[in-house]
Amino acid sequence: MQVHPARIRSLAGPPPRSGSVVYWMSRDQRAADNWALLHAASLAGESGAPLVVVFALAPAYPGATRRQYAFMLAGLAETEAALRAHSIPLAVLTGEPGFTVPAFLHSVDAGVCVTDFDPLRVKRVWKAAVAVASPGALVEVDAHNVAPCFLASQKREYAAATLRPKIHRLLPEFLKPFPDLPTFPAANLDGFAPVDWRAAADFVQADPSVPPVTGIVPGSAAATQVLDDFLRDRLEGYAARRNDPNAGATSGLSPYFHFGQLAPQRAALATLEARSRAKEGADAFLEELVVRRELADNFCLYEPEYDSFEALPEWARKTLAAHAADSRPYLYDRETFAAATTHSALWNAAQRQLSREGRIHGYMRMYWAKKILEWSGSPREALETALFLNDRFALDGRDPNGVVGVLWSVGGLHDRPWANRPVYGQVRYMNERGCRRKFDVDAYVARYPEQAA
Ligand SMILES: Cc1cc2nc3c(=O)[nH]c(=O)nc-3n(C[C@H](O)[C@H](O)[C@H](O)COP(=O)(O)OP(=O)(O)OC[C@H]3O[C@@H](n4cnc5c(N)ncnc54)[C@H](O)[C@@H]3O)c2cc1C
Repeated sequence: MQVHPARIRSLAGPPPRSGSVVYWMSRDQRAADNWALLHAASLAGESGAPLVVVFALAPAYPGATRRQYAFMLAGLAETEAALRAHSIPLAVLTGEPGFTVPAFLHSVDAGVCVTDFDPLRVKRVWKAAVAVASPGALVEVDAHNVAPCFLASQKREYAAATLRPKIHRLLPEFLKPFPDLPTFPAANLDGFAPVDWRAAADFVQADPSVPPVTGIVPGSAAATQVLDDFLRDRLEGYAARRNDPNAGATSGLSPYFHFGQLAPQRAALATLEARSRAKEGADAFLEELVVRRELADNFCLYEPEYDSFEALPEWARKTLAAHAADSRPYLYDRETFAAATTHSALWNAAQRQLSREGRIHGYMRMYWAKKILEWSGSPREALETALFLNDRFALDGRDPNGVVGVLWSVGGLHDRPWANRPVYGQVRYMNERGCRRKFDVDAYVARYPEQAA
């Protein structure tokens, strides 16, 4: 089965030559529903070459703690078992990926290395290093977006309104069912012992001060279960109830998408199947899952300084600069925010949800970030603090969605100017009174007392 050619682009080197086929798995850490793996399997199948999957474990990934590593490694162990059931080995390389991946490619005489698409800087740096040292071709497949990011648009989009029609135009061609992963001859496993996951966990130097969470079960099987439960029980009420943090109405799928344990396209296909009984919920969910999520990839792909103040729209930079000297009602440093010891019980509850559960409800995330703007010394400091805390504590952090969520809240990205007010300028404002109109604030606060239960 051929993968749509517009999902694939060459990063370096000559066209694929004979030799083994390697899939360097990075962002899309699953065996099923993975266009990059399917492309590698199809190249190997056509030429009769062996296929091996590698995962390059860096000693320290920027901002990742034990919480994220534990979730990722458990998911990868499950993926390894699923791959081996198809006689496809997984090798874990430990060290700097810019060195370990080319060395591995040479060791197996790789004719082609396929990798998955990721717009974030750290991955682009690794890929550039692999491209110059690879013995064969290096190709990238967008296995994360329904509409391939580099095809949907060739520029930084202004807002969801400008990307939406471009994505919708591509859906009939790309929102198609996945083929099954083929099974290889048993000999394809020869020479590859199962991964020693304990050794892999010992290798990473993850910050131990943020412990793993127990409430979100890692792995593709758990992800599928969460998706099924959401579609069965909550899709119908999603449009009406998703902004209520007490309602438990959202999918909870973002950690699985972040680590590629579930394909967003699988979720989109299953949502379409359920649409006849829950049209309003399905349409609202697909807008978030496809358009908003893919807008974040678009921003990070085309904005090299995506996590900086300079990346904000011009109107927002101007208005925030004009209000930089406004007096702040409260001023907190990063440590006070992290410890959830501000004056606001509501804000502290959101920060406690984040640090205890590894997630914050989407609506509270906006409020959380906007108050960091209001209570920090400058908009630049606020951006840095919000990105730091989000990446440190959230299981779905270090993701284009996190970058865009923070820049939207703190700096008006993909938004429009609103009425002028202190500190915010024309950046959209939120306050506790607005929250009280939308949901039971006291019930939310009561769920996250100062001392964890
Ligand atoms: C300050 C701030 C920080 C954020 N940080 C992150 C982050 O680190 N990682 C992350 O994945 N999302 C982030 N978001 C976006 C959004 O809040 C989460 O995707 C969502 O809350 C995840 O919960 P869910 O899977 O239950 O969402 P659902 O409501 O069930 O949505 C389904 C999926 O759609 C996508 N989605 C939903 N809302 C958005 C959105 N506003 N923008 C882009 N995609 C969206 C996500 O992939 C999500 O899993 C952030 C938003 C804000 C305002």
